[in-house]
Amino acid sequence: MKFEKEFAQLLFRNAVIFIDSAIGYINKGLDSYVNMLQAIVNLQFAMELALKSSVVSYCGIRTVLVSKQSNLSGSEIEDLYSVNKLKVREFDDIKNFTKGKKHLYNFERKEYQYMELFQKYRNCVLHSAYVFSEQERRDAEKNIMYALLLKNPIYNQELYNFLKKEYEDLYTCPYCSARTMTIDYKCARCFNVFSDRHFLDM
Ligand SMILES: [Zn+2]
Repeated sequence: MKFEKEFAQLLFRNAVIFIDSAIGYINKGLDSYVNMLQAIVNLQFAMELALKSSVVSYCGIRTVLVSKQSNLSGSEIEDLYSVNKLKVREFDDIKNFTKGKKHLYNFERKEYQYMELFQKYRNCVLHSAYVFSEQERRDAEKNIMYALLLKNPIYNQELYNFLKKEYEDLYTCPYCSARTMTIDYKCARCFNVFSDRHFLDM
């Protein structure tokens, strides 16, 4: 089903848009409450979209659809897709689905805990006035990126293209071994900051 691949790519492209936005807020400084909230919500969106995209490409579009739609024929699903009527299951269901697919998703317990943490943040932001502690924010931002996006080769390419456009010079990150470190020695991939210049000669 050709549209299936297209659907996965669209989900993924949107994930990258939210990631870019999250990076923007992180770079503006997370000491501001607004930036922090925006970074967290954008990361959560990106994470949901990236995981859905990945499940669609590995396991097919039916896996992510609500049960009523997943039993339809291919052409019926395509018709719904073309009129924007596809209903995707809750993130929690999709996340739990990946837990039983160890050969495809080698997320560790810690990584699932981060997904759950971000889900909690998202729900709290939407339904109440959640106050993030400094530690919560610091813990969460790095690992969520790693858990979901950095293991995805499409993301790496998209991120690189984005950075090439935004920054003139890029360096190789000593941690990622990818050319994703900006001139202020901050890696946009792993979010490590390398203030020590000698890393650059590695
Ligand atoms: Zn890095």
